[in-house]
Amino acid sequence: MSDPVEHSQGMDEATAPARSRQRRLVVPELALVLLIGPSGSGKTTFARRHFGPTEVLSSDFFRALVSDDEADQTASRDAFEVLHLVAEKRLRRGRLTVIDATNTTAEARARWLALAKQNHVPALAIVFDLPLEVYLQRDATRPGRRVGEPVISRQLRQLTANRGRILREPFAHRYWLRSVEEIERAVVVRRPLCSDKRSWHGPFDIVGDVHGCFTELCDMLEALGYQVERVLGPSGEAGFRIVHPGGRRLVFIGDLVDRGPDSVSVLRLAMDAVRRAKALCVLGNHDRKLMRYLEGYEVNVAHGFEKTLQQIAGETAVFRHRVLTFLRHLSSHYVLDDGRLVVAHAGLPEEYHGRCSPTVRRIALFGVTTGRRDEQGLPERINWALSYRGRALVVYGHTPVQEAVWVNQTINIDTGCVFGHKLTALRYPELELVSVPARAAYYPAARALLTPEDLQRPLLLPATDEMMPEEVTVGAGE
Ligand code: GDP
Ligand code: MG
Repeated sequence: MSDPVEHSQGMDEATAPARSRQRRLVVPELALVLLIGPSGSGKTTFARRHFGPTEVLSSDFFRALVSDDEADQTASRDAFEVLHLVAEKRLRRGRLTVIDATNTTAEARARWLALAKQNHVPALAIVFDLPLEVYLQRDATRPGRRVGEPVISRQLRQLTANRGRILREPFAHRYWLRSVEEIERAVVVRRPLCSDKRSWHGPFDIVGDVHGCFTELCDMLEALGYQVERVLGPSGEAGFRIVHPGGRRLVFIGDLVDRGPDSVSVLRLAMDAVRRAKALCVLGNHDRKLMRYLEGYEVNVAHGFEKTLQQIAGETAVFRHRVLTFLRHLSSHYVLDDGRLVVAHAGLPEEYHGRCSPTVRRIALFGVTTGRRDEQGLPERINWALSYRGRALVVYGHTPVQEAVWVNQTINIDTGCVFGHKLTALRYPELELVSVPARAAYYPAARALLTPEDLQRPLLLPATDEMMPEEVTVGAGE
């Protein structure tokens, strides 16, 4: 999975020396952060310094809440029960949550990791791994209660025995603080999750599955009022530059490639536009397959990937590498315009909006399935849009339809261009649909495009892409 947080821009030269003295801990704006360390390691002090008072859930505080004594170990069970409940409510509401407890045992961490997974937020570990003397000295000078050497030694033994394990646990990031000095240099830098583009307000032109139909994409850009310029890249490679006089931006709904005649040019145009912030693009299942191929995995050469393989065969290693880097940075979905608009290749139920997990990615790319399979062994897919009651408009593609029609607040704009039908875009916030006809049927459709009536049925026809029995497989290294 790609990094859940946005990458920072280049470091400002003037601040570089100051920053090098800092120990930067990048924390997504929505995450579950576990502080890990024996008593006296400075977790509570650290949490107070770097996070808001309601963001930090401290076991001592909850012990006091239920028993009036933060040191009363007999109150731990009740305290953790309430603490867990509060953490769960916060994460469900999309609030950053910091757990200030020792978390030195695998069981304690497993519970939090499960909660993060259940809420589709990344889990982070900040480990306070200091010499025993530091813990003991701080315990001795702590105002009020003492934890005592036997307890602290036991917690340190647990931490020591757990170091390797913490590395294998499914944390999105682990920050290891090994000295008092390192803790003092620590700076928490908050970053939006990569799906968070709430500050992008549009206006947007959201384009359905292009599948290598470059000519139709150019027709569409012209219809939408974009100027398309051919340019040469730094290494002499052909590229395309788009600009809209009204400052509009494109949003590609994913599946740039496969089946169509010119996936390479579609990639060149999309990559350049995304790089220059003229466009956004979410990852589609076909784009993901190309990414996996370029990473060296074996993939199923079918459903139009055979065409993409031929088309990229003549391209340079530099180009392939650029494509791979581009695809790796694509998000599974975007939340735009203060949360009023969500784009995802196969759509996305509201509970996953702005979340980040392998499940969110799978659903955004492939759709919601029942877990059952039909008689052909294909996963049964749920028409999630029928029960959608969310606040955001959800624009998606993936399953070709005859007409883009609204179902509740959702719209599927994949109108099967590559199968000879048409390419569709949704102008936002105007909510006008713009279509251009396909110039040819470039690929045989496995089945008829869905009708507006089909979109009212609770189950969709299963998708054949990616889910057929293995045909020919080939890896990029072969
Ligand atoms: P916790 O048990 O891990 O939550 O540790 P606390 O944050 O409660 O810290 C234990 C004791 O160490 C307290 O008396 C703190 O004031 C002290 N302490 C914590 N962090 C630092 C630090 O960075 N420097 C110094 N000198 N003392 C610290
Ligand atoms: Mg504490």
